[in-house]
Amino acid sequence: MDQTSRLGQEHLLRVVYSHQQIASEVARLAEEINKAYSGRELLVIVVLKGALFFAADLLRGLRIPVRVDFVKLSSYDGMMSSGHVQLTKDLDTEVAGRDVLVVEDIIDTGLTLSFLVDLLHKRGVASLSVCTLIDKKERRQAQFDPDFVGFDCPGGFLVGYGLDFNERLRELPSIYEIVENNTGEVE
Ligand code: 5GP
Ligand code: MG
Repeated sequence: MDQTSRLGQEHLLRVVYSHQQIASEVARLAEEINKAYSGRELLVIVVLKGALFFAADLLRGLRIPVRVDFVKLSSYDGMMSSGHVQLTKDLDTEVAGRDVLVVEDIIDTGLTLSFLVDLLHKRGVASLSVCTLIDKKERRQAQFDPDFVGFDCPGGFLVGYGLDFNERLRELPSIYEIVENNTGEVE
């Protein structure tokens, strides 16, 4: 089954970041993090599920000691943010006194990450930084600036490399934008 038939005839997938571009950006980010945290131990908190592939690749580029934990937050319904953030899976690890790096797939309105960052500060982290593969910073509703950014992206709904459309298309190795098929063509 190709990607188009998985989406239906009304939509096409347009490549935005190829898997080669992603690999080189992830390697660059890993080097930045290695440099910033040299000599320290890091607790990496991965935001499920979208950041799973990104985190798996990023972590393999790190040369500092790390522990890994996961949270799950939900605010999305289909292609729209509901604006209401909920913690649906909490950490297993005590974060007080730790240097924490949050790994996220995309920051869009910023509401999800603002919620998580506030929560981690309340729990007494020693330091906190955020690494996102993609930053849609023009769409912010909450003031939020990530510390490590892969790609700046103006907008569009992206899928692949962990990013889903209603739980599908995460397995695609590159990142695509879902666009309307008004040409009758199939990519
Ligand atoms: P925010 O709270 O910043 O608006 O939304 C952040 C979350 O929404 C991201 O962690 C991501 O899971 C989801 N999201 C935002 N933009 C996109 C997108 O273009 N594609 C997909 N699949 N998810 C997105
Ligand atoms: Mg996410």
